[in-house]
Amino acid sequence: MNYNVFNLLWQGIKGHNGWPQAWRSPEPKTRYDAVIVGGGGHGLATAYYLAREYGMTNIALLEKGWLGGGNTGRNTTNVRSDYMFPESAAVYDMALRLYEGLGKDLNYNIMLSQRGWLTLIHDQHQMESARHKANWLQCNGVDGEIIGADKVREMLPGMEMNGRYPVRGAFLQKRGGTIRHDAVAWGYARAADRLGVDIIQNCEVQGFDMADGKIVAVNTSRGRIETDRVGVATAGHSGVIAEMAGFRLPITSHCLQAMVSEPVKPFLNHVVISPGTGVYINQTQKGEMVMGGVLDLYHSYGQRGTFPTIEKVITSAVEMFPTFSQMRLMRHWAGIVDISPDSSPILGQTPVENMFINCGWGTGGFKAIPAGGYLLAHCIAKGSPHELAAPFGLNRFRENRLIDEGAAAGIAH
Ligand SMILES: Cc1cc2nc3c(=O)[nH]c(=O)nc-3n(C[C@H](O)[C@H](O)[C@H](O)COP(=O)(O)OP(=O)(O)OC[C@H]3O[C@@H](n4cnc5c(N)ncnc54)[C@H](O)[C@@H]3O)c2cc1C
Repeated sequence: MNYNVFNLLWQGIKGHNGWPQAWRSPEPKTRYDAVIVGGGGHGLATAYYLAREYGMTNIALLEKGWLGGGNTGRNTTNVRSDYMFPESAAVYDMALRLYEGLGKDLNYNIMLSQRGWLTLIHDQHQMESARHKANWLQCNGVDGEIIGADKVREMLPGMEMNGRYPVRGAFLQKRGGTIRHDAVAWGYARAADRLGVDIIQNCEVQGFDMADGKIVAVNTSRGRIETDRVGVATAGHSGVIAEMAGFRLPITSHCLQAMVSEPVKPFLNHVVISPGTGVYINQTQKGEMVMGGVLDLYHSYGQRGTFPTIEKVITSAVEMFPTFSQMRLMRHWAGIVDISPDSSPILGQTPVENMFINCGWGTGGFKAIPAGGYLLAHCIAKGSPHELAAPFGLNRFRENRLIDEGAAAGIAH
């Protein structure tokens, strides 16, 4: 059943008892043409594009917990495409363009809100860097502009403009904004299921059976599944999966925390990040202020952060918006993110012939989900990377072709 105004009215009259399940919960079969590990946004998007674009429908997506229970359901929902190098700009802007049509594509309201993404400029040095970046983006065909302090004051009326971190202006990407994160997971899941993909939750991948350097079967908590190809999108647990297949990835796993305040009336109409103070903030449709900041800098699979980081984020938020000192913090949480040496993703072939990977998005992979899924699907279907994914192969670390997006990754790194 499609989600549209007529069905909504009809179900409203009938007491909303007739909506079908959004996706099935099938028992795993003993064999699939391809298996995707990880039911976050990247894995689900991979399943969807593999079925839709490449006609592969005998596929399973295996998730050890519940869909979106990893970073996809834990992030701060910000999207933008203002990355610097042409290789990255092409991938992140492809993702944003796909997001712009995704609601219709999936027949699912992903609550895309292109309310504008502002990176504050506090001093002359940051102004120089922002100009440099704006020029690069123009060369790459991506939108972005510098605005002056007066315009910032107009857009962010409650902000302290002349405190310890005076605001000189901002870099603005108007197409940036927010998207409801779990709607992305659920929308892709529903659409992939409709195309015949088996989405299997509570199914942990525990090892691989190999023959002649290839995977022949995946061993899971729900039995052994034979397959020809494996795609992996497990973010902070990518290293664990790689170890099961007998190789190491240049990935370190860290906690990244976020937090929300109690809900308040509409106050902040844009997404704002302050590299000077070290916080980024948006206000949800429910009124909560969503805040995030720096990584917890030690390695961990703990999925719970430390208090000094929370204190730092809150201090920074109050520095920018002094009235926030009167709000209460409602809850905080953490995800396990996958940091690569150049803060760019790893996409494509692994040392195992029929295993392909999508990881290394670190603190910024939500915005990339449609492109990450599309590019991994291409690789699984064709056995070779899409031209946009080719620069992001694992071999770049051996060949010293790093794509250093540490600055574009923002304050988290
Ligand atoms: C607090 C926080 C804030 C963030 N804010 C933003 C933001 O504003 N904008 C942005 O672009 N990005 C943001 N990110 C980063 C973004 O969330 C991630 O890069 C992105 O969600 C990664 O998606 P994924 O599908 O690769 O991984 P995940 O969503 O983590 O999915 C991986 C899945 O793999 C499963 N899995 C792991 N091991 C196994 C196994 N052995 N068997 C089966 N399944 C397994 C996990 O359970 C998980 O569900 C943030 C991250 C965090 C933690």
